[in-house]
Amino acid sequence: PQTDPQAGAAVKAADRAHVFHSWSAQELIDPLAVAGAEGSYFWDFDGNRYLDFTSGLVFTNIGYQHPKVVAAIQEQAASMTTFAPAFAVEARSEAARLIAERTPGDLDKIFFTNGGADAVEHALRMARIHTGRPKVLSAYRSYHGGTQQAINLTGDPRRWASDSGAAGVVHFWAPFLYRSRFYAETEQQECERALEHLETTIAFEGPGTIAAIILETVPGTAGIMVPPPGYLAGVRELCDKYGIVFILDEVMAGFGRTGRWFAADLFDVVPDLMTFAKGVNSGYVPLGGVAISGRIAETFGKRAYPGGLTYSGHPLACAAAVATINVMAEESVVENAAELGASVVEPALRRLAERHPSVGEVRGVGMFWALELVRNKDTREPLVPYNAAGEAAAPMAAFAAAAKANGVWPFVNMNRTHVVPPCNVTEAELKEGLAALDAALSVADEYTE
Ligand code: PLP
Repeated sequence: PQTDPQAGAAVKAADRAHVFHSWSAQELIDPLAVAGAEGSYFWDFDGNRYLDFTSGLVFTNIGYQHPKVVAAIQEQAASMTTFAPAFAVEARSEAARLIAERTPGDLDKIFFTNGGADAVEHALRMARIHTGRPKVLSAYRSYHGGTQQAINLTGDPRRWASDSGAAGVVHFWAPFLYRSRFYAETEQQECERALEHLETTIAFEGPGTIAAIILETVPGTAGIMVPPPGYLAGVRELCDKYGIVFILDEVMAGFGRTGRWFAADLFDVVPDLMTFAKGVNSGYVPLGGVAISGRIAETFGKRAYPGGLTYSGHPLACAAAVATINVMAEESVVENAAELGASVVEPALRRLAERHPSVGEVRGVGMFWALELVRNKDTREPLVPYNAAGEAAAPMAAFAAAAKANGVWPFVNMNRTHVVPPCNVTEAELKEGLAALDAALSVADEYTE
């Protein structure tokens, strides 16, 4: 990369003067000025290059600046940059077809949104109208988006400031053996007890009041907890038993992240509604959506669906989705995530866990991995407390700084680092990144007891 510190300083100065950043105390942040990005890397104006182990916010599943997708966006811009949602438009029709062909079961109708949170909002609206019921169950340790209903569903501290009693959301515990709420010692116990807990929650809330249960197929930001065998099938059964709509949120887990087109395919489960965004076009142009089952689509066959967006199925975003899905198919990107996840990432991370006292657990699938960092492997005390900020979060900040100094941009959330590079990452890139993580974990080790 070329260096141009002056240009970087100008970008930074205008940012600090005028850009109001997400989830941040505006005066306490120091955003890196980015000069460019390509493939699995990005670079700043000072000549520092980083291997992106975060895929942005886990959305650049085909990396940055894929030439075929960039060209498709340019062509779409030249031919039809935008068009209102009530018309049939080629890019939109084709994107919907390619998505519907890949979604499980009879999820064959696609409602397009601008991103993940509004996909979640609309999935809930569909479920409430379809059932005529008010409430929704969602999991602690989840993230469903930043809009009002979606943040109320979310089970992490970002919900607290916007919590609204009127949202009709009840939280429950999904399975997570490493920090079991059910005193479970095996995956099977965790699964059975989590299902029993969910059914009891349904009984005490009143089955006739519950429109939907929403789960991330594999919870992402909350810590990449791959559900035990049988759990999602069990939730599907409970939904059928009580007439509840089953929503799977695949905003992060979908489009190759788990080494399948959709994480639901790992578990042979078919929800009634499935939300997606991010990987659908690698985030090149904002796009999300809801994949809708035949039964729920029928509810809105003769009756209007009361919802919409000016940019629903925006041609530029849909052209990017068509090109991305075609690239993923032509270049075996989903298969790459599955193969290198199993042959390179998993064994390397397990070796790191053996050698580093700070690594309490390794878990994940495909290109979707979490390292749970702890002060003590026996007590499993997290390296930093839940929702730690400032000084209390210093050990994770030190780890992240060390990773960056070694050329890897790490994903850090609470006491975890996630290994979530693009799904088309190469073996050589992975090895480079894993070596840098190894060195950074030695810094984390200094905080263990
Ligand atoms: N659902 C899940 C599972 C997510 O991971 C996210 C974002 O990280 C969202 C919903 C919200 O998506 P967006 O930020 O595009 O609104």
